[in-house]
Amino acid sequence: MPRMSDLRTKSKMSRILAIETSCDETSTAILSGSTQAPTLEAHFILSHTKKTHPFGGIVPEVVAREHLQHLEPLVAQTLAQSHNTLAHITHIAATCGPGLLGSLVVGTTTAKTLALAQNIPFIPTNHLEGHALSPILSALTESPPQEPPPFPYLLLLVSGGHGLLLLVQQPTSYRVIGQTRDDAPGECLDKCARLLQLPTASGAELEAAAKKGNPTRFADQIIPLPQPMKHAKLHHAQHCDLSFSGLKSALARAIANRTLSKQQRLDGAAAVQKALCDSLIERSDTALRTLAAQNRKPAALAVAGGVAANQTLHAQLQCLATKHALPFFCPRLELCTDNAAMIAYAALARSEVVPQKEKNKYSPSSSISLSSVSLSSLSFPVRPRWFLQAECDYKKAYVRSLLDVRNVRKTYANKTRSKKTMFTKVPTKAPTKAPTKAHLQTQTKE
Ligand code: ADP
Ligand code: MG
Repeated sequence: MPRMSDLRTKSKMSRILAIETSCDETSTAILSGSTQAPTLEAHFILSHTKKTHPFGGIVPEVVAREHLQHLEPLVAQTLAQSHNTLAHITHIAATCGPGLLGSLVVGTTTAKTLALAQNIPFIPTNHLEGHALSPILSALTESPPQEPPPFPYLLLLVSGGHGLLLLVQQPTSYRVIGQTRDDAPGECLDKCARLLQLPTASGAELEAAAKKGNPTRFADQIIPLPQPMKHAKLHHAQHCDLSFSGLKSALARAIANRTLSKQQRLDGAAAVQKALCDSLIERSDTALRTLAAQNRKPAALAVAGGVAANQTLHAQLQCLATKHALPFFCPRLELCTDNAAMIAYAALARSEVVPQKEKNKYSPSSSISLSSVSLSSLSFPVRPRWFLQAECDYKKAYVRSLLDVRNVRKTYANKTRSKKTMFTKVPTKAPTKAPTKAHLQTQTKE
């Protein structure tokens, strides 16, 4: 049991419990302090790729069930490991999108329920914002803390579900410079790994195979794979966009009706990795040159998302940053793939931009009974498609989350009042006077 003195000291600062269930990882984290000096008190990531591997890819229903089974024990473990109870938590955050609908519902419903039970704000968080700020979180939670990337920085966000070039101007302010028109880079690597019949359909497996292969030999013996978007015109309006479905289709066509030797499959992996990395480097270079031409040269280059774990890509991005005289940042591995720590940090950043005046106005003070209120009152919906630039109005969302708690209290109060009214208004005796003829006529006219 925590001592009362602990409770008091702990209650002085923000301590966020975050839940991430947007795709195939169940993750929970507790982050305290401020965005300038955050402390990652506990962090768990449970990947379900082994469960989905027999199906050849992610099955939304299967991962949603995994989240359902593992989330609650993981929350308990996170609290226990950080020596906290729910009473120490000041905010609850969860990924509301983008992601798989069923998976998002499990995470957000759990988070909203905990927020209601504890009477603390629920912070709906954008998964992409988590990735966008992960290089900062990674630097600040190193021991000793490192210098975080300066603003604005150009972020290459590459994961299994997303491919973006983003200008991170400051927390909560982003500009999309380019985005994938079809497949995400991680998705492309996973599909190519499956086409090449590698032991698991994953980017990590493809990287391991690529180390033993030769892209030139694949070009000579089978076909040269195209570099996506190589010929995108500079004057085109979306010239920093990415595209990867063509690369996957080129590989599928090249190896259809052929039996590849083991070495040829390894060469294929090396050829895919080379084409994808070359494209990402060329696109990032174009973005940096375009921003410089507009007098908006960023102060740093960063990468985030699961594909950032690729060592070849990492080394090439480092060279690109040096070429543009920029520092380069990459989060440590646990913060590259989907994780709740980055969700907690994004939620912390959002809670800090809300003026204290607003917080006091909406701050919940009395406790409410969970059994008597409807969960739909915490009305921020899950958003399987949630575009960072278009809809992320953080201040509004945060204030709305505080309002939600207030509305729930109102609903509960109204419900109790209306129950009382109902009982007092129900007539105990039937009316003694029969309606008169004139009375009936007026009723028909109405
Ligand atoms: P999502 O948000 O879509 O779940 P994650 O951030 O969890 O994506 O990253 C998973 C993706 O990262 C997968 O597509 C996986 O293939 C890719 N990935 C993981 N490790 C590597 C690696 N070493 N090289 C390239 N891709 C990788
Ligand atoms: Mg994932």
